[in-house]
Amino acid sequence: MEITEANYVASFPSVTKCPPADKPEYAFIGRSNVGKSSLINMLTGRKRLAKTSSSPGKTQMINYFDINRRWYLVDLPGYGYAKISKKKRQEWRRMIENYLLQRTSLAAACILIDSNLPPQDVDIEFLDWAGKVQLPIIIIFTKADKSKSVKVTKNIELFKEKMLESWEEMPQYFITSSNQEEGREPILELFDSINNEFYNLYE
Ligand code: GDP
Repeated sequence: MEITEANYVASFPSVTKCPPADKPEYAFIGRSNVGKSSLINMLTGRKRLAKTSSSPGKTQMINYFDINRRWYLVDLPGYGYAKISKKKRQEWRRMIENYLLQRTSLAAACILIDSNLPPQDVDIEFLDWAGKVQLPIIIIFTKADKSKSVKVTKNIELFKEKMLESWEEMPQYFITSSNQEEGREPILELFDSINNEFYNLYE
Protein backbone atom coordinates (compact mmCIF):
# COMPACT_ATOMS: atom_id res chain seq x y z
CA MET A 1 0.00 0.00 0.00
CA GLU A 2 1.31 3.39 -0.91
CA ILE A 3 0.56 6.14 1.59
CA THR A 4 -0.35 9.22 -0.35
CA GLU A 5 -1.97 11.18 2.46
CA ALA A 6 -1.47 11.08 6.21
CA ASN A 7 -3.08 13.80 8.28
CA TYR A 8 -3.63 14.38 11.96
CA VAL A 9 -7.39 14.70 12.54
CA ALA A 10 -7.78 15.54 16.23
CA SER A 11 -7.54 14.09 19.74
CA PHE A 12 -10.58 12.93 21.67
CA PRO A 13 -11.05 12.37 25.40
CA SER A 14 -13.38 9.38 25.09
CA VAL A 15 -14.89 6.94 22.63
CA THR A 16 -18.22 8.79 22.63
CA LYS A 17 -16.47 11.87 21.20
CA CYS A 18 -14.63 10.06 18.39
CA PRO A 19 -15.41 10.74 14.69
CA PRO A 20 -18.16 8.78 12.87
CA ALA A 21 -17.20 5.11 12.64
CA ASP A 22 -17.18 5.07 8.84
CA LYS A 23 -13.62 3.92 8.14
CA PRO A 24 -11.73 0.87 9.35
CA GLU A 25 -9.29 1.80 12.08
CA TYR A 26 -6.15 0.40 13.63
CA ALA A 27 -5.34 1.34 17.19
CA PHE A 28 -1.72 1.34 18.35
CA ILE A 29 -1.02 0.66 21.98
CA GLY A 30 1.89 -0.39 24.15
CA ARG A 31 4.03 0.43 27.16
CA SER A 32 5.53 3.89 27.22
CA ASN A 33 8.85 3.98 25.36
CA VAL A 34 8.03 0.83 23.37
CA GLY A 35 8.69 2.73 20.14
CA LYS A 36 5.06 3.50 19.23
CA SER A 37 5.62 7.01 17.83
CA SER A 38 8.63 5.85 15.83
CA LEU A 39 6.63 2.94 14.42
CA ILE A 40 3.70 5.16 13.42
CA ASN A 41 6.10 7.53 11.67
CA MET A 42 7.89 4.63 9.96
CA LEU A 43 4.65 3.01 8.75
CA THR A 44 3.22 6.25 7.40
CA GLY A 45 6.55 7.45 6.01
CA ARG A 46 6.10 10.77 7.83
CA LYS A 47 8.93 11.76 10.14
CA ARG A 48 6.94 13.75 12.64
CA LEU A 49 3.35 12.52 12.38
CA ALA A 50 3.35 11.12 15.90
CA LYS A 51 5.53 12.98 18.36
CA THR A 52 8.25 10.76 19.75
CA SER A 53 8.60 10.33 23.49
CA SER A 54 5.72 12.59 24.49
CA SER A 55 5.69 13.23 28.20
CA PRO A 56 3.64 10.95 30.48
CA GLY A 57 2.13 13.98 32.23
CA LYS A 58 0.39 15.06 29.03
CA THR A 59 -3.38 14.72 28.79
CA GLN A 60 -4.26 11.23 27.79
CA MET A 61 -6.19 11.35 24.55
CA ILE A 62 -7.28 9.15 21.66
CA ASN A 63 -5.33 10.55 18.71
CA TYR A 64 -6.71 10.14 15.19
CA PHE A 65 -4.80 10.19 11.91
CA ASP A 66 -6.54 9.89 8.56
CA ILE A 67 -4.58 7.78 6.06
CA ASN A 68 -5.38 7.99 2.35
CA ARG A 69 -8.89 9.08 3.37
CA ARG A 70 -9.52 5.37 3.61
CA TRP A 71 -8.56 4.31 7.12
CA TYR A 72 -7.73 5.71 10.52
CA LEU A 73 -4.59 5.15 12.47
CA VAL A 74 -5.34 5.68 16.15
CA ASP A 75 -2.57 6.43 18.60
CA LEU A 76 -3.63 5.44 22.12
CA PRO A 77 -1.83 6.66 25.24
CA GLY A 78 0.83 4.24 26.45
CA TYR A 79 0.49 2.14 29.57
CA GLY A 80 2.91 1.19 32.30
CA TYR A 81 4.27 4.55 33.36
CA ALA A 82 5.96 3.85 36.69
CA LYS A 83 5.24 7.27 38.13
CA ILE A 84 1.57 7.63 37.25
CA SER A 85 -0.94 7.74 40.14
CA LYS A 86 -3.39 4.94 40.79
CA LYS A 87 -6.29 7.23 39.96
CA LYS A 88 -4.77 8.21 36.60
CA ARG A 89 -4.06 4.59 35.81
CA GLN A 90 -7.70 3.69 36.47
CA GLU A 91 -8.88 6.56 34.29
CA TRP A 92 -6.59 5.39 31.51
CA ARG A 93 -7.89 1.87 31.84
CA ARG A 94 -11.50 2.95 31.68
CA MET A 95 -10.97 5.14 28.64
CA ILE A 96 -8.97 2.54 26.71
CA GLU A 97 -11.24 -0.35 27.58
CA ASN A 98 -14.34 1.64 26.61
CA TYR A 99 -12.72 2.64 23.35
CA LEU A 100 -11.59 -0.88 22.47
CA LEU A 101 -14.89 -2.48 23.44
CA GLN A 102 -17.26 0.07 21.95
CA ARG A 103 -15.62 1.24 18.76
CA THR A 104 -17.54 -0.62 16.06
CA SER A 105 -15.11 0.23 13.26
CA LEU A 106 -12.02 -1.06 15.10
CA ALA A 107 -10.35 -3.37 12.57
CA ALA A 108 -7.53 -4.37 14.90
CA ALA A 109 -5.71 -3.35 18.04
CA CYS A 110 -1.99 -3.39 17.29
CA ILE A 111 -0.23 -4.24 20.54
CA LEU A 112 3.41 -3.24 20.59
CA ILE A 113 5.99 -5.32 22.43
CA ASP A 114 9.66 -4.40 22.89
CA SER A 115 11.67 -7.26 21.39
CA ASN A 116 14.67 -6.35 23.56
CA LEU A 117 13.02 -7.34 26.80
CA PRO A 118 11.86 -10.67 28.20
CA PRO A 119 8.06 -10.92 28.61
CA GLN A 120 6.77 -8.09 30.82
CA ASP A 121 3.87 -8.72 33.22
CA VAL A 122 2.03 -5.55 32.21
CA ASP A 123 2.02 -6.64 28.54
CA ILE A 124 0.91 -10.17 29.35
CA GLU A 125 -1.88 -8.84 31.59
CA PHE A 126 -3.13 -6.56 28.85
CA LEU A 127 -3.04 -9.39 26.32
CA ASP A 128 -4.91 -11.68 28.70
CA TRP A 129 -7.66 -9.08 28.92
CA ALA A 130 -7.67 -8.68 25.11
CA GLY A 131 -8.06 -12.44 24.76
CA LYS A 132 -10.85 -12.58 27.30
CA VAL A 133 -12.92 -9.95 25.49
CA GLN A 134 -11.95 -11.41 22.08
CA LEU A 135 -10.45 -8.26 20.71
CA PRO A 136 -9.05 -8.57 17.18
CA ILE A 137 -5.35 -8.07 17.80
CA ILE A 138 -2.06 -7.92 15.94
CA ILE A 139 1.20 -8.11 17.86
CA ILE A 140 4.06 -5.92 16.69
CA PHE A 141 7.51 -6.55 18.16
CA THR A 142 9.53 -3.32 18.05
CA LYS A 143 13.20 -2.25 17.96
CA ALA A 144 14.44 -5.55 16.52
CA ASP A 145 17.72 -3.86 15.48
CA LYS A 146 18.65 -2.86 19.01
CA SER A 147 19.90 -6.19 20.37
CA LYS A 148 21.71 -9.13 18.77
CA SER A 149 19.27 -11.17 16.70
CA VAL A 150 19.71 -14.25 18.93
CA LYS A 151 18.47 -12.20 21.88
CA VAL A 152 15.48 -10.87 19.92
CA THR A 153 14.60 -14.40 18.77
CA LYS A 154 14.90 -15.69 22.34
CA ASN A 155 12.68 -12.92 23.74
CA ILE A 156 10.04 -13.60 21.11
CA GLU A 157 10.12 -17.33 21.84
CA LEU A 158 9.73 -16.64 25.57
CA PHE A 159 6.88 -14.28 24.81
CA LYS A 160 5.07 -16.87 22.70
CA GLU A 161 5.46 -19.47 25.44
CA LYS A 162 4.05 -17.06 27.99
CA MET A 163 1.13 -16.12 25.76
CA LEU A 164 0.24 -19.69 24.98
CA GLU A 165 -0.39 -20.23 28.69
CA SER A 166 -3.68 -18.40 28.18
CA TRP A 167 -4.13 -18.10 24.39
CA GLU A 168 -5.01 -21.14 22.30
CA GLU A 169 -2.81 -19.96 19.48
CA MET A 170 -0.41 -17.13 18.85
CA PRO A 171 -2.18 -14.17 17.21
CA GLN A 172 -0.72 -12.79 14.01
CA TYR A 173 2.56 -10.99 14.74
CA PHE A 174 5.23 -8.92 13.02
CA ILE A 175 8.84 -8.14 13.88
CA THR A 176 9.82 -4.55 13.14
CA SER A 177 12.56 -2.00 13.39
CA SER A 178 11.66 1.63 12.83
CA ASN A 179 15.32 2.58 12.61
CA GLN A 180 15.89 0.14 9.77
CA GLU A 181 12.42 0.41 8.23
CA GLU A 182 11.78 -3.26 8.76
CA GLY A 183 8.33 -4.82 8.77
CA ARG A 184 6.54 -1.97 7.03
CA GLU A 185 5.29 -3.71 3.90
CA PRO A 186 3.73 -6.82 5.47
CA ILE A 187 1.84 -4.73 8.03
CA LEU A 188 0.50 -2.32 5.42
CA GLU A 189 -0.47 -5.24 3.18
CA LEU A 190 -2.47 -6.78 5.99
CA PHE A 191 -4.22 -3.46 6.65
CA ASP A 192 -4.96 -3.19 2.95
CA SER A 193 -6.62 -6.57 2.78
CA ILE A 194 -8.67 -5.90 5.93
CA ASN A 195 -9.70 -2.52 4.49
CA ASN A 196 -10.85 -4.17 1.26
CA GLU A 197 -13.03 -6.55 3.24
CA PHE A 198 -14.45 -3.65 5.25
CA TYR A 199 -15.45 -1.72 2.13
CA ASN A 200 -16.83 -4.80 0.36
CA LEU A 201 -19.05 -5.35 3.34
CA TYR A 202 -20.17 -1.75 3.51
CA GLU A 203 -20.62 -0.91 -0.14
P1 GDP B 1 6.97 5.75 22.44
O1 GDP B 1 7.15 6.39 23.78
O2 GDP B 1 6.39 4.38 22.56
O3 GDP B 1 6.22 6.60 21.45
O4 GDP B 1 8.42 5.49 21.86
P2 GDP B 1 9.33 6.36 20.87
O5 GDP B 1 8.98 6.11 19.46
O6 GDP B 1 9.36 7.77 21.36
O7 GDP B 1 10.75 5.66 21.11
C1 GDP B 1 11.29 5.52 22.41
C2 GDP B 1 12.81 5.38 22.28
O8 GDP B 1 13.15 4.20 21.56
C3 GDP B 1 13.43 6.55 21.51
O9 GDP B 1 14.68 6.84 22.10
C4 GDP B 1 13.62 5.98 20.11
O10 GDP B 1 14.69 6.57 19.41
C5 GDP B 1 13.91 4.51 20.39
N1 GDP B 1 13.44 3.65 19.27
C6 GDP B 1 12.22 3.65 18.72
N2 GDP B 1 12.14 2.75 17.71
C7 GDP B 1 13.38 2.18 17.61
C8 GDP B 1 13.94 1.17 16.75
O11 GDP B 1 13.32 0.61 15.84
N3 GDP B 1 15.25 0.82 17.01
C9 GDP B 1 15.99 1.40 17.99
N4 GDP B 1 17.25 0.98 18.15
N5 GDP B 1 15.49 2.34 18.81
C10 GDP B 1 14.21 2.75 18.63
